[in-house]
Formats: sequence, C-alpha cells, structure tokens
Amino acid sequence: MGTIKCDICGGTLSMDVSGTFAVCDVCGLKHDTERLKVKVEELKKEKSQN
Ligand SMILES: [Zn+2]
Repeated sequence: MGTIKCDICGGTLSMDVSGTFAVCDVCGLKHDTERLKVKVEELKKEKSQN
C-alpha cells in the first residue's frame, strides 16, 4: 500500500494516538478519517491506471 501524503506540502502523515485523524509531520495539517479514506481511494485509482 502506498504512503498517504499531506494535501498541502506532500509530507508524511502520522496517525494520531486517538486514531481519529492523521497529522502531517512537516506542516502539522490534520486530515480526518473521511479525508484519509478519499486519499486511499485516490491511491488505488492511480495504481489501477498505471
Ligand atoms: Zn503538510
């Protein structure tokens, strides 16, 4: 599975201990679980196209 990256800066996301959101290591932007699901689907689409 590919790495999910920050919407803003492309940095690596770390899951919060609560498991309810992920935070960018670089800029600190929070991505909630709904956003993460969308990003996972986008990654799957990219893989199927290539
Ligand atoms: Zn970021």
